[in-house]
Amino acid sequence: MNWPKNLKGRVKVKEPLKKHTTFQIGGAAQFFIEPEDPGDLKLLLNLLKRDKIPFRIIGAGSNILVDDYGVNGAVLRLNSPYFKKAEFKGLNLDVGSGLLINRLVWLTHKHGLSGAEFLVGIPGTVGGALMMNAGISEKGKSTCLSGRQVKSIGDLVVNVTVADYNGNIKTLNRKDIQFGYRESSLSKYIILSARLKLVKKDKNKIRDTIKKCLGYRKDTHDLSRPSAGCIFKNPEGFSAGQLIDLCGLKGKRIQDARVSFKHANFILNLGKARAKDVFKLMKLITKEVEDRFDIILKPEIKIWQ
Ligand SMILES: Cc1cc2nc3c(=O)[nH]c(=O)nc-3n(C[C@H](O)[C@H](O)[C@H](O)COP(=O)(O)OP(=O)(O)OC[C@H]3O[C@@H](n4cnc5c(N)ncnc54)[C@H](O)[C@@H]3O)c2cc1C
Repeated sequence: MNWPKNLKGRVKVKEPLKKHTTFQIGGAAQFFIEPEDPGDLKLLLNLLKRDKIPFRIIGAGSNILVDDYGVNGAVLRLNSPYFKKAEFKGLNLDVGSGLLINRLVWLTHKHGLSGAEFLVGIPGTVGGALMMNAGISEKGKSTCLSGRQVKSIGDLVVNVTVADYNGNIKTLNRKDIQFGYRESSLSKYIILSARLKLVKKDKNKIRDTIKKCLGYRKDTHDLSRPSAGCIFKNPEGFSAGQLIDLCGLKGKRIQDARVSFKHANFILNLGKARAKDVFKLMKLITKEVEDRFDIILKPEIKIWQ
């Protein structure tokens, strides 16, 4: 593959994706590319289209399980300073899709703006969070948010600027975007940035909420080993973790993939877990839950094969 001289971003060949996912699992991407800015992205997309090379977008890789054989084509990451900008305009924050969520939360605290506290501890980027409509569970909300309405990042959105697969840029208003439970209608785009609406608040109160949310995560999530967070979505009216627990599957292990003792919806990589071990464990969990409760669990994580 001949990359054009005017491409400013970095291209890596056969880049192991386990280096770029929080699960630390997965084979290589044929090409791993970090465009510098939207112009660079457009150049790349046209090139990939011309040469019929498929592509995917990765954020912080905190909700992805990559197959052991890796993926064909290109994986693009919007990780340059251009895509990590954050600019406050009154009560609005314009933020690039490559910025880490934790950074965003502490920036809003610094500016005395509230609304994003509940996102703290989510180890993703703004782009990945918008795409997944990341948020907090009902239990987490009642524990650390004292009855406030905001529950997922979509609740904060004023607009989202995206590129289509030809690199053409447009801004979508909130009313033109559907945000559902861990999904959004943004999946057909490359998310570049977003405008979020916040409210003024005392910094100490913001910090208290952030601390409560972090405490809730520490108490409930298993952060002891690499994982991709919750593996399955909660079925309507149920907690996936509770159903898995009731099947007696906490601690169930296949090679180095193990169901967490602390949070049954987390699968941990004990060191050398492969994607095939996680797939087997997911299959076993799905079967046990279906046999016992007649409920079919659906993965929350994105599986790249
Ligand atoms: C310990 C732990 C705790 C977690 N806790 C929570 C939680 O409380 N709530 C929650 O909702 N999630 C949680 N997650 C899951 C995950 O962190 C979120 O879904 C996060 O928002 C994913 O962001 P990311 O940047 O890592 O996206 P990735 O995992 O890299 O990608 C996820 C999806 O988004 C797409 N994507 C990423 N960036 C872009 C972009 N710029 N444009 C278009 N598509 C894009 C990818 O192609 C992929 O389909 C947790 C994960 C872990 C490991």
